[in-house]
Amino acid sequence: MLIDGKEISKLVYKDIVNEIEIITKKIQRPPSLSIILIGENPSSLTYVNNKLKKCEEIGVKGNLIKKPNNVDEQGISDIINELNQNKKVDGIILQLPMPNHLNERILIEKISPLKDVDGLTATNIGLLSIGKPRFIPATAYGIMEMLKKENLISEGKNIVVIGRSNIVGKPIVALLSGKAENATVTVCHSKTINLKQHTINADVIIVAVGKPNILDGSMIKDGVIVIDVGINRIENKKNSKGFSIVGDVEFNSVSKKASLITPVPGGVGPMTIAMLMKNVCEATKLNI
Ligand code: NAP
Repeated sequence: MLIDGKEISKLVYKDIVNEIEIITKKIQRPPSLSIILIGENPSSLTYVNNKLKKCEEIGVKGNLIKKPNNVDEQGISDIINELNQNKKVDGIILQLPMPNHLNERILIEKISPLKDVDGLTATNIGLLSIGKPRFIPATAYGIMEMLKKENLISEGKNIVVIGRSNIVGKPIVALLSGKAENATVTVCHSKTINLKQHTINADVIIVAVGKPNILDGSMIKDGVIVIDVGINRIENKKNSKGFSIVGDVEFNSVSKKASLITPVPGGVGPMTIAMLMKNVCEATKLNI
């Protein structure tokens, strides 16, 4: 059976749209999100356009600040400072990845933690890790919301997370292993020696690696729940674009054994933007 991220995200949007209406009446302007995009990375451009499109659909004021690839750190830092001080800006996103000459960590830390809707500043990561989250990174937040809405987490579950990035793996591990969920969580990564040894007994497997087919049917037990976070472009000459989007999971063999699985596309992706919008609402309330 598929976990339909699109359908679950519709429920989330229903609440968010109500909330936006209330906030907009109260502060006499819509919540606002500013996105800084540097360079011409086509995937980043697609992600940013999707976020801006959703802003427009649901009544959030989206603002794109686009800078050329050769912009320097001071230039970006100045923009962030201005946005931090602007009372009409509620949320700020620095679209990643950035060009190599820019220090991602230094620039993220310039964002006010009260406007850091991606939840990537050290303050917000720290709050999450002590079980008092302010902004949960949207993909991890979306996965949690999916698992909760489908009633899939219960105490004592064995959960394997493959991938330990700051935006997906680490926050999901912090949330699932916390006292609210009480799962027993194993984290796997590129240096894990025998992935199957860990995945074969898992009740839930969350895969966030960025490589197709990292998990196949021989590595899982019957009835497992699989959340596929990966977004990978693979060549497909039959498709007019010349490529298809697939996840990290070998879908055919895994879906035969799994009790539930998220498709790619249509699984985690739609939830990510929904939870980002929820964070923008939260940021607006904090900044009132
Ligand atoms: P990332 O920063 O590149 O992290 C990848 C993680 O996978 C790292 O922790 C890495 O281990 C681990 N890894 C690499 N090779 C491995 C292997 N052979 N076995 C086990 N672990 C391995 O990627 P990310 O930003 O977390 O994104 C992961 C995927 O999710 C990408 O496809 C991305 O496009 C997708 N994504 C989707 C959404 C969505 O909304 N659906 C949102 C964000 C990301 P090390 O730590 O040892 O390097």
